[in-house]
Amino acid sequence: MIEVAPDESALFGSDFHLSADDPQTAERVFSALARHAPQCAHLFLLGDLFEVWVGDDGADALADRFSTQLRQLADQGVRIWLMQGNRDFLLGPSFAARCKAQLIDDPCPVILQGRAALLAHGDALCTDDIAYQQWRSTCRNPAWQTAFLARPLGERQQMGRQARQASEDGKRERTEAIMDVNPASVASTLQDAGCAWLIHGHTHRPADHHSTVRGQAFRRTVLTDWSAAQARGGLLRISKDAIETVG
Ligand code: MN
Repeated sequence: MIEVAPDESALFGSDFHLSADDPQTAERVFSALARHAPQCAHLFLLGDLFEVWVGDDGADALADRFSTQLRQLADQGVRIWLMQGNRDFLLGPSFAARCKAQLIDDPCPVILQGRAALLAHGDALCTDDIAYQQWRSTCRNPAWQTAFLARPLGERQQMGRQARQASEDGKRERTEAIMDVNPASVASTLQDAGCAWLIHGHTHRPADHHSTVRGQAFRRTVLTDWSAAQARGGLLRISKDAIETVG
């Protein structure tokens, strides 16, 4: 199990949605990582780092810049952990190696400040969205992924664009509640993992929730998404002294 020592600090980020179509947001991400990551022992990146990812062979100039930055941080001694999100679920070992990062499962238990915490992207907990969960079980199937990755890159990029558009259209038809995590799914996932603290992204609803389910106290820390146009973004830094958002 990954253990962050009590005197170490850890930095968390997700939902950068890096895309050549949004260079301002990408610049903010690069700048925040450059300013805050070198002082941290661990950098946890919890998915949707890219707006779309159709395979490690599709890395563009922006992805190359990102992997170069992460590799340089790793060379400075930062341990880098990468989790797939729902947009970049095909992030693979080849790209992780370029980043000198280690891919981690979703969810992933860690020891943080002496406590068992669970890291997740968050999409698996949005169980009220039945249509999405059906798609998730399809696209996370290894046979589906092997067949998809066997297609020519150009074809995959075209399919990725179409899937993004379909997802945007679908979002407008769904209610706000369906797009959030399901509290019972959160509680059972934490209980199964033996954790009382969940850190996730995905929902674009940054907050720090404290709740009690069947007599047990739970904490759920939600990371922010990034958008320069909407002045949104930030990294969560957890150290011995504080839990704070830095940007
Ligand atoms: Mn997501």
